[in-house]
Amino acid sequence: MRNVVIIGSGCAGNTAAIYTARANLKPLVVSGYEAGGQLSLTTLVENFPGFPEGINGPDLVENIKKQAQSFGAEYVHGAVTEADLSARPLRLRIEGEWVETRTAIIASGASARWLGLESEQKLIGHGVSSCATCDGFFYRDKKIMVIGGGDSAMEEANFLTRFGREVTLVHRRDEFRASKIMLDRAHHNPKIKFLTNTVVEEVYDVSKNLVSGVRLRNVKTGEVWEQEVDGFFLAIGHIPNTAVFRGQIETDADGYVISKGGARTSVAGVFHAGDVQDRVYRQAITAAGGGCMAAIEVERYLEAEGH
Ligand code: NAP
Repeated sequence: MRNVVIIGSGCAGNTAAIYTARANLKPLVVSGYEAGGQLSLTTLVENFPGFPEGINGPDLVENIKKQAQSFGAEYVHGAVTEADLSARPLRLRIEGEWVETRTAIIASGASARWLGLESEQKLIGHGVSSCATCDGFFYRDKKIMVIGGGDSAMEEANFLTRFGREVTLVHRRDEFRASKIMLDRAHHNPKIKFLTNTVVEEVYDVSKNLVSGVRLRNVKTGEVWEQEVDGFFLAIGHIPNTAVFRGQIETDADGYVISKGGARTSVAGVFHAGDVQDRVYRQAITAAGGGCMAAIEVERYLEAEGH
């Protein structure tokens, strides 16, 4: 029987592990299939407090993990494949084995949606990014492309004009999901060019391990052309990793966990941390803060239950 199982090993899960380990709760952290979370997909992180020279995303998340392990946190590879949150203790199936626990912290994150092109996948962290806030700074005076037609795409395109020489926004239709105000703002920004009814067929140049351009296709006319690009930003949505808890915990229509105040969820003893609940801030530092909050909630909950 565990005191706490932490589901996810990104910034949120690893921080929750530090706190619960230091509280002597011997946490078990389930790493998940994307161990290290989204930080493991980025390169230099310059906005995490405490690192004046910046730090590589994978190093940052590994350091937090090591810190948790030094206090006795235990890590297991793999994922939670089934859950029974109505049982007491809670029951989680981790890679074929059922584990019982008094509390759980869901820190399973939200995965960025990608186009799925092989070239795109190979260039993640080398010019392909899903986070303008994280990586925009590296594209000063460069040519930037943003994919998507929602509020995120408009926000990211606007933000990226602070850095880039020009920003091309590519959307697969000519109607936008983005709210009018966000769309108008992007339309009025002289640095943003719109390409509608357009899809990306290929990202170049995998052989050089950097982004140098893309091949585009107009879905109405069939025209195909190439365009030079230095930074390629996806803003086509995120998918919260909550499928395994569907129907057992309150989520919104897109699957994001609904907070019941602080780190609490709709299920007693189950807490949330990081992007699995956050569609607004999505930063390493806010995820770490969420992990701390969830850990403190776990301590209080166990104490109130007499453990
Ligand atoms: P979203 O509204 O779901 O929009 C996703 C966009 O990506 C859509 O335009 C969609 O195209 C496109 N897309 C999806 N899959 C694609 C694919 N495989 N290839 C090409 N394009 C693809 O997602 P979001 O923009 O991240 O916004 C999520 C939520 O957060 C929304 O409720 C939004 O209002 C909110 N948000 C608010 C703000 C703000 O107010 N400041 C900022 C960001 C986000 P289709 O339209 O053709 O499906």
